[in-house]
Amino acid sequence: MCRTIAEIREYRAQFQKDNQSVGLVPTMGFLHAAHLSLVELAQKRADRSVVSIFVNPSQFNQRADLESYPRDEARDLALLQEAGVDLVFCPTVEEMYPNGFQSWVQVEEISLPWEGAGRPGHFRGVATVCTMLFQIVQPDIAVFGEKDFQQLRLIEQMVADLKIPTTIVRGPLIREEDGLAMSSRNVRLSRSGREKALHISRTLHRLRDDLLQETTDRKRLLQDARSELERLPDVAVDYLSIVQENDLSEADGTYTDEPERVIATVVVDGVRLLDNVSLKRKALVG
Ligand code: AMP
Repeated sequence: MCRTIAEIREYRAQFQKDNQSVGLVPTMGFLHAAHLSLVELAQKRADRSVVSIFVNPSQFNQRADLESYPRDEARDLALLQEAGVDLVFCPTVEEMYPNGFQSWVQVEEISLPWEGAGRPGHFRGVATVCTMLFQIVQPDIAVFGEKDFQQLRLIEQMVADLKIPTTIVRGPLIREEDGLAMSSRNVRLSRSGREKALHISRTLHRLRDDLLQETTDRKRLLQDARSELERLPDVAVDYLSIVQENDLSEADGTYTDEPERVIATVVVDGVRLLDNVSLKRKALVG
């Protein structure tokens, strides 16, 4: 495990000498099976796998959220060792943001709606830390999960705009057996909170099936799904919308052939939970 940029650069130089490609998985730690699925993808697609664990303060707009973010470095390192990861980067905040730090990366339109609207400055923090990680690790590929779909699209946009020589690989959204999207934040749910949280994926999947029927007005289906969730105590829907996958703009009420996705953020007992489902039709077999 490395805490400094200098150490990572040394390993990176050696990988380069040995002609080995590098795959990076950026995380904030408190790892679960979804993180490990991204690691597996990186291992398949590159010779060497690097995982970063860094709870990035600049992407938190609430101090309490940053402070209560779950952490367990020893457990994370054991899981990554078991998974056969080549290198883990766990920098300190001072290593990433030394005194006098003042350069920020701002991806514009795509960072404004949804998570961006609810969490001012969040995506500026994400774009900046990912740019730094790309500069430090210089990965050939980097894997991001579809669970944070807006973040994934923002990184893809940034890498294209800034000509960063890294290929972004998408990892599918991984769910618990009962359907809840895996998240490090799920441990903050009480038993009853978790019961309520299950309604998110159920509602989204039902909504997707209804939307794919193309018989009922889309706005009405969205409104019904939102009401269904908000009927639960201490559940607030931040957004529940159909978006164009490409630019995250809200899809209008008409049915189209463009790739679209239903995205949602629902706050359950104060815990912010993200989920989304693709509106792509499954390929017909036979
Ligand atoms: P985090 O540690 O939450 O910042 O997440 C690190 C990476 O794991 C990001 O690319 C996330 O999108 C991805 N990730 C987190 N949860 C899931 C999930 N349930 N399915 C797929 N990817 C995920």
